[in-house]
Amino acid sequence: MTEAERRAALEAIAAEVRACTGCRLHERRTRAVPGEGHPSTEVVFVGEGPGMNEDREGRPFVGRAGDLLVRLLGSIGWQREDVFITNVVKCRPPENRDPEPDEVAACAPFLRRQLEILDPALIVTLGRHSMGRFMPGTTISRAHGTMQPADPATGAARAMVFALYHPAAALRASAVEQASYADVALVPAALDDARARRIASARPIEPASEPGTAAAPPAAPTRPETDHSTPEPPALDQLTLFR
Ligand code: URA
Repeated sequence: MTEAERRAALEAIAAEVRACTGCRLHERRTRAVPGEGHPSTEVVFVGEGPGMNEDREGRPFVGRAGDLLVRLLGSIGWQREDVFITNVVKCRPPENRDPEPDEVAACAPFLRRQLEILDPALIVTLGRHSMGRFMPGTTISRAHGTMQPADPATGAARAMVFALYHPAAALRASAVEQASYADVALVPAALDDARARRIASARPIEPASEPGTAAAPPAAPTRPETDHSTPEPPALDQLTLFR
């Protein structure tokens, strides 16, 4: 898919989300919040659901939690425009309550289809609800700062999943904020790992190239549209992000 095709496919999903009446959350929404970001990104951030500011603006993470997310991204030299940001549910749960299982289930096809189109190398979950979709059977206190392969049923067949605390939780507790900065500092290396795993699983091991000739992977989390070279994967002993 070209970048223009990805953009159009994502916009088609966004239009469906804005018209969706698939669960009770549509009844009280001001605006649905499909998600936004770079159509050629390698990294998708997934939060829980829109809050009051997001419901007003129709954009994800534009309130105080969003400001902290932007600061966390800035601490690793990334901008929100470099990545794609979306949520497990696309309409605001009243009074910011947790989304109900049937609401999450009704919205799940939108997230799955977004992930199929974006085909990210790395999904970063924000908070326990998002983590629960991608890393079932663990707790946020154990999973934050760790990475595991995504279940292909999520739509992200070739992705790794990295868990962060929710920025709103970090706003409530300075220890969580500190942990969030420490965790997000691991994300660029997690992306390198995720890229290397895709390359390693996509082709047989090749003989080593001449020393010093392998290209370093690009730092920015977007796919170069014109450069189709594949950087050499790092040695497996560098894959150190699992606990
Ligand atoms: N919290 C979320 O989980 N998502 C948003 O978009 C905003 C706040």
